[in-house]
Amino acid sequence: MKYEGMIYRPPSEANSLILQVTVGCSYNRCTFCHSFRDKEFRVKSFEEIREDIDEAAQTGNIPRVFLADGDALIIPQPDLIRILDYLKLKIRGLERVGIYANAVDVLKKDVEELKQLRDRGLGIVYLGLESGNPEVLKRIKKNATVGQMIRAAKRVKDAGMLLSVTVLLGIGGVEMSREHAADTGRVLSEMDPDFVGALSLMIVPGTPIDEELRSGKLVLPTPFGLIRELETMIAHCNFTKCFFASNHASNYLPLRIQMPGEKEQALALIRRVLERKDPVLLRPEYMRAL
Ligand code: SF4
Repeated sequence: MKYEGMIYRPPSEANSLILQVTVGCSYNRCTFCHSFRDKEFRVKSFEEIREDIDEAAQTGNIPRVFLADGDALIIPQPDLIRILDYLKLKIRGLERVGIYANAVDVLKKDVEELKQLRDRGLGIVYLGLESGNPEVLKRIKKNATVGQMIRAAKRVKDAGMLLSVTVLLGIGGVEMSREHAADTGRVLSEMDPDFVGALSLMIVPGTPIDEELRSGKLVLPTPFGLIRELETMIAHCNFTKCFFASNHASNYLPLRIQMPGEKEQALALIRRVLERKDPVLLRPEYMRAL
């Protein structure tokens, strides 16, 4: 497989074949994101992609494939269909294809177009909400509004695909901490995804948000402040059926919660941690990572 630069994938795609169909992120301006800053965005040619698929096809059964990089759903519909059809043709045992998308790219496709992709194996879309607070979304230069996020989520679900949404604890700083957490819980409830991944903001040197931190414009919540956000967020979440995970390596308190069934139990546990405020209950700083 010919990969260009660092490759990122959702934690749940750890066992998937990562097929790089685009290089970088077409937007690349979110203030906290370092992932693709060094990459100039391009869509790989079908010939490049076909070579990688042919190579992977030699290795036996591959149940899951993840299409990288940052927002591969931006690929024009006929090209994406061609890639999915070729994967189906060549990869034995293929059960599901996953993809990162941003809300604007989802909304460029109508439900019928998304269904065409689903029928060809695209089974899960990973969408970065980060925050449900409009002011925070503006500050971090996310390229979508709360309304667009909710509409994109509905479209993915109407097309019969699974939806996984990522949110970022701490992204509103101390100033917006409470509003960020409560609004994010509320917006997540409207999106009603199948999976939520809550990560904690970790500042990468050289990003615009790093500048904000250095200049004092942004003040990060303490570790227990982040756990308070997690508590507020979960308290505002009402899902039909969702697996909510805060077990990413960036988090101080790793949890895996089946909602709605385990919501109250999880809240009780978080509240006990907040009452005790004992650092020994948290993931040690040296074990945190992006
Ligand atoms: S859209 Fe996603 S990949 Fe692109 S800059 Fe924003 S967070 Fe990073």
